[in-house]
Amino acid sequence: MKNDCALVWFRRDLRLSDNRALEKANIESDKIFTLFVYDEIILQALQDRNDQRLSFIADGLMDLDQQLQACGGGLMIAFGNPKDIVPKIAHKLAVKKVYCNKDFESYAKERDQSVRESLRALAIDFETTLDHVILDPDSLRTQQGKVYTVFTPFKKKWLEVYDQTGKVVQAKAKNLNYLYPSSELAKNLQISSDPIGVLQKHGFNYGKPVCAGGELEAQKRLVEFSNPIKKYDQTRDQLGYEGTSGLSPYLRHGNLSAREAYSFAQKKNSLGARVWQSELIWREFYQYLLNYFPSFGDSSFVPKYNKKKWPGDKKHFELWQQGQTGFPVVDASMRCLLQTGTMPNRARMIVASFLCKLLLIDWQKGERHFARYLLDFDLAANAGGWQWCASTGADPVPYFRIFNPYLQSQKFDSQGLFIKRFVPELAQLPVKYLHRPELAPKEVLNQARVSLGSSYPRAIVNYEEARARALDWYTQVNKQQL
Ligand code: FAD
Repeated sequence: MKNDCALVWFRRDLRLSDNRALEKANIESDKIFTLFVYDEIILQALQDRNDQRLSFIADGLMDLDQQLQACGGGLMIAFGNPKDIVPKIAHKLAVKKVYCNKDFESYAKERDQSVRESLRALAIDFETTLDHVILDPDSLRTQQGKVYTVFTPFKKKWLEVYDQTGKVVQAKAKNLNYLYPSSELAKNLQISSDPIGVLQKHGFNYGKPVCAGGELEAQKRLVEFSNPIKKYDQTRDQLGYEGTSGLSPYLRHGNLSAREAYSFAQKKNSLGARVWQSELIWREFYQYLLNYFPSFGDSSFVPKYNKKKWPGDKKHFELWQQGQTGFPVVDASMRCLLQTGTMPNRARMIVASFLCKLLLIDWQKGERHFARYLLDFDLAANAGGWQWCASTGADPVPYFRIFNPYLQSQKFDSQGLFIKRFVPELAQLPVKYLHRPELAPKEVLNQARVSLGSSYPRAIVNYEEARARALDWYTQVNKQQL
């Protein structure tokens, strides 16, 4: 039997296509209200009232609202604590059931549990559906029934289960009967249909994000990636060259479903597409780990590292944050983050390895810095990436593998395009010296108007010495008994 009326609560799934909770509500209900809540707990913790992630989300909400209006409804937008707001609105609208998609973060799990209990007291059902990842974590177990902690066997199992179950991508939900509450009820409930107005009313600003948000924009970018994906295996690591999809913020906020992205690549049938699919499986792997190991986001997966203090220098951390380390590829990457809110994957690996190994600074400090600025910030992928680089994670890079920032720079920014863009004070240096300006003869530096220690910093550590120190420290930690 169909529910008379249901409420769909959007969170990290801002789209109509292939949205599992929406689809389920559509099958089971006659009429649907739709809601998004700006969570005041998350927003008040932001350090910047102009945080571009809010603008990116607002873009997505405007897009959603327009699509819903075309079907006779409209998105309700509220601001506050979802634990209070969702039950209150559901009750006033007299819905029988609230639908939403699962979120694996600990905060979200606890919030959803509280909403579930409040709704139960009001005799309203609450259902969460798997949507943000392609495969259900519970379907992915070793033969002994254990959780995977190593990527390669996880991926093997993942592909096996995907072949059996995972392929269906649902089209845009059509023929839905959407509703918007009467204007008086909307007023009583303090809900609006203006995502920017709500933000501004609570002291946050809207500014154009580095890339516009929304489902339509995500679809456009997916289509634009149709050709580049074929060469992804060759171009993805090249700094200063847009060889990747740029879809991470859209996947993070659910403007695009991971199922759709994966199946889009499946149809391309090329090495590039297969390598790209593998990255989407890394995304699944980190979500999977966060689901089963809730502390994965804020402590080292290998417990030995939680017991030992990282000896790095506070001043070094500040210089790293500002892009003033004297290592051009590191500085270009860190300034890229500050200026654009994004950073290529190869650059993330270089700066993370630099911080944890060459500077011996706790990966969590770097992770928090990324969390503050990345447009695509996602706890699972960020902590996963950091712990991989710091060698503290599940299936990380071996601790004795220490990236050489000079060689990485020569290999992945061979023409120096990335460095020249973000470290313009070095732009006149011949490429030969761009990766390590200290090796340039004095007259070359003069001609390029580079004064080391003044117009551009000298390297804050000697690479060879820092490498030896890191090896020593990591070896000691690894010798410790648990
Ligand atoms: P593409 O290369 O086009 O890849 C397609 C999609 O696959 C990405 O959009 C992303 O959703 C996923 N993906 C790709 N690489 C990875 C990976 N290594 N791990 C998990 N998922 C991946 N990604 C985030 O989405 N949010 C983060 O907060 C984040 N923090 C990171 C921190 C560090 C230290 C490192 C090393 C990596 C981090 N990544 C993070 C992974 C990766 O850098 C970004 O997903 C990628 O740069 C996004 O660009 P793209 O969309 O063009 O990716």
